[in-house]
Amino acid sequence: MTVPDRFTHDCANCCGMCCVTMKFERSDEFAIDKPRGQPCPNLSADNVCTIHDRLTEEGFPGCVAWTCYGAGQRVQAMYPGRTWRDDPDLAEEMYDHMMLVRVIHRLIVKIIESSGWSEGDPLPPAARVLDDLAGDPARLPSIADPEAAESIILDIVRGALAGDRPKAT
Ligand code: SF4
Ligand code: SF4
Repeated sequence: MTVPDRFTHDCANCCGMCCVTMKFERSDEFAIDKPRGQPCPNLSADNVCTIHDRLTEEGFPGCVAWTCYGAGQRVQAMYPGRTWRDDPDLAEEMYDHMMLVRVIHRLIVKIIESSGWSEGDPLPPAARVLDDLAGDPARLPSIADPEAAESIILDIVRGALAGDRPKAT
């Protein structure tokens, strides 16, 4: 299924955001425990995965399966030239935005995939509302658990779409 490129990860334009933001637990998917906000020990000082070409062999198939849906590079673009590593005061805000934008981008991808969207088409209306929301951090709900944000985000979309519709007379 086709989606616009910007809803797939572009690690060359990101500061390894998922490799520090995500928490994971030792399991079949990940070889170690890692809390949110702690850089993965496999991440280099210039924010590149040092085992990228052998993730599964090294016990990290979860990293192969995971995608940020383009949230990483989008949040990085909100902080030009700055990273969680060089700017620790910004780090928590970046992690929050990364997780929330990922939730929004994942919803956008679901909408696009179920709409029969083709290259060159405008985004479906609900995806457009979500896209605007993802690009405006001040409007993002401030919620510690990004998964819990999904229903609030969907309420925002429903409200915006309802506002677009002519009122029944
Ligand atoms: S957050 Fe996304 S773009 Fe950034 S390194 Fe991770 S997968 Fe790549
Ligand atoms: S193993 Fe590589 S891709 Fe997975 S979290 Fe660590 S640095 Fe990132």
